Amino acid sequence: MAKENPKIGTLSVWAGEEKKDGWQRATQVPVVHSVSYGYDDMDYWYDVALGKETGHIYSRNTNPTVDVFEEKMRQLEGAEAATSFSTGMAAISNTLYSLLQPGDRVVSIKDTYGGTNEIFTRFLPRLNIDVQLCPTTDHELIEAEVAKGCTVLYLETPTNPTLKVVDIARLTKAGHAVGATVIVDNTFSTPINTNPLALGADLVIHSATKYLGGHADALGGVLCGAKKLVNGAFAYREINGATLHPMAAYLMIRGLKTLALRIERQNVSAMKIAQFLKGHPKVEDVFYPGLETHENHEIAKKQMRDFGGMMSFFLKGDFDAVRAFLPRLRYAHIAANLGPVETVAGPPRTTSHVEVSPEQRAAMGIPESLIRYSVGIEDVEDLIADLEQALQ
Ligand SMILES: *Cc1c(COP(=O)(O)O)cnc(C)c1O
Repeated sequence: MAKENPKIGTLSVWAGEEKKDGWQRATQVPVVHSVSYGYDDMDYWYDVALGKETGHIYSRNTNPTVDVFEEKMRQLEGAEAATSFSTGMAAISNTLYSLLQPGDRVVSIKDTYGGTNEIFTRFLPRLNIDVQLCPTTDHELIEAEVAKGCTVLYLETPTNPTLKVVDIARLTKAGHAVGATVIVDNTFSTPINTNPLALGADLVIHSATKYLGGHADALGGVLCGAKKLVNGAFAYREINGATLHPMAAYLMIRGLKTLALRIERQNVSAMKIAQFLKGHPKVEDVFYPGLETHENHEIAKKQMRDFGGMMSFFLKGDFDAVRAFLPRLRYAHIAANLGPVETVAGPPRTTSHVEVSPEQRAAMGIPESLIRYSVGIEDVEDLIADLEQALQ
């Protein structure tokens, strides 16, 4: 970087894009669709293959556009290294499979993303990997399970969809005491609100599909952390083949330029909307870590710069209330994704936790009538008026 210690808004715009000479002076990063890279000098090519010289050989492994996205995320998370994947789930599964082997033990929480929960309950046990899923906010119980020994401690915060917050610094200490690798899914918080590596975690994962891209038009995932661990996941991904597409990488780079702007606005709007919903007679409860009434508000205050754009709430009445309410929203896509510039609303039972049975959802404390609400960048007055008329 030209300036020392640039702040996060500056990093969002410039990180990874300082160097202009390599792109024939184009100020914007070109989308390099090329599958391969040509070499006339066999010895030089060999050195690139061995990693002695920098360069690209084949785009399943590395690609110039994808490189810029990874470098931007590396700087935003304050990491030694970063690598990318075709989706957030590819980042999660490739990272886990690169770290684990039969006989290992994983400790995690009950409230992880639905797909992550599937890996823990269906796929890892088939490989004779023991997975212990703890009640998400019971820190003492998680510490006790970790103390029995584990290879990986896997956290997610705030959680999807009930916005529980786990204490990254505290649990990382417990994980490191038994030599575990501590992974944090930071998708909901984004690097603008939380940097898990600065709190001690070893690896941070994002579904770039959500806030990083921010426009719901590209799928992607990213992993940041210590070089040795990131390289392990990269080596696995090279062979597994879950590579980020260069066009998706370009859309992520473009999205990231406004990351700080978007998140700052979404933070402010979400707080106002959470307060509005909390006081509304038709709303039973609101889950938003910025509310003082939130069960983990103190932890959130300690480890988050601000509380993010995600919340969930449930209406008085059963699922019929949800059926009536959601289609009445004018300024919200009724859909399964989260984190874009538009507001998105949907019930977890058909979105994030559709793979999970009703019994499992009940066990996870997800009411069937819960609504997940991803606050967009619209004017907050319009969003509140829209919620008000839909609640009538
Ligand atoms: C969406 C999501 C994922 C999975 O990401 P994809 O890009 O859809 O594969 C993982 N974790 C969290 C918290 C998510 O919201």
